[in-house]
Amino acid sequence: MQLAPATVQALADLFAQGATNKAAARALGIDKDTAARYRARLGFGPAKQPTPANRSTLTLAEKWQTFVRSVEGGHMEWTGRRRSNGGTMVFTHHSREYGARVVAFQIRTGRRPVGRVTAECDRPGCVAPQCVEDDPGRTHSRGQYAAVIGLATPLTECTNGHPTAEHRRFNRDGSPYCAACHAAADARRKAAA
Ligand SMILES: [Zn+2]
Ligand SMILES: [Zn+2]
Repeated sequence: MQLAPATVQALADLFAQGATNKAAARALGIDKDTAARYRARLGFGPAKQPTPANRSTLTLAEKWQTFVRSVEGGHMEWTGRRRSNGGTMVFTHHSREYGARVVAFQIRTGRRPVGRVTAECDRPGCVAPQCVEDDPGRTHSRGQYAAVIGLATPLTECTNGHPTAEHRRFNRDGSPYCAACHAAADARRKAAA
């Protein structure tokens, strides 16, 4: 397609304003390939692809940061959304939903958590990276606490023969329990319900 000089001038103006080939072609009623050919001929580099209006330029961590408020004692409150069922603190980044505590954990450790992420401090609803732990982290920190307060046991098996090295977990107060027995009891409860 050969363009009239006036159209070429209009096209050059659009390119100068940052229009893409597609946008310029649509504005002038020409086809995209012609726009592309004239772009090269007129000496314009490729246009920056527009970022969709609703696509945040923030990173995941930066977006997370916009929903937290620091409170006394190094803890953090969540000011963002909560899921209606169960109240899990969540937010959306680039069309995906993330858990506030999962991202807090990733910010501190640089890795994805294993299992559930909980806050191990005593402030309800805390999302401070320093306060959250995943399954292994929780077992480790609660185990240390259990040892300090004298609740660590020397047993290598629970009463049902599950090895404690693998299955021992701790409640928040440091009291130990067997995760395998716990899971079995859970399954029995569900089967009975
Ligand atoms: Zn906290
Ligand atoms: Zn057990």
